Amino acid sequence: MSTSNDPHAAHWGALAAAAETIGALCTTEQARELCAAIDRLSDAIMRHEPIDMVLHCPACGEQHVDAPEPSVEHDHGAVEFPAWDNPPHRSHLCHGCGHIWRPADVATNGVREIKTQGKNDSVRRS
Ligand SMILES: [Zn+2]
Ligand SMILES: [Zn+2]
Repeated sequence: MSTSNDPHAAHWGALAAAAETIGALCTTEQARELCAAIDRLSDAIMRHEPIDMVLHCPACGEQHVDAPEPSVEHDHGAVEFPAWDNPPHRSHLCHGCGHIWRPADVATNGVREIKTQGKNDSVRRS
């Protein structure tokens, strides 16, 4: 997936331009601290890392866990799936049934389990 079809590309550009303008105005100690904070904030937004989620295929129910994978080749050399280095993606391909779906408007990363749980969650992990 290239970043050129990122619908937020214009926003990232505007953010970078704003950060540059603010940077030029940062002369006092306080302003410099403010700038550093804005830098960190825009960095985090620009990276817009995929959100870890427990994903299940809506068609067949198989859990979808994202991870880099080698290419899948048949014995006679035809490549069924090219190698996958797990770049950020929004649409997920179910390995069980081939269903493709998008659980959110932002990039998500299918994980086996998320890191936290609520104390009132119906299903508790041990
Ligand atoms: Zn499926
Ligand atoms: Zn996926």
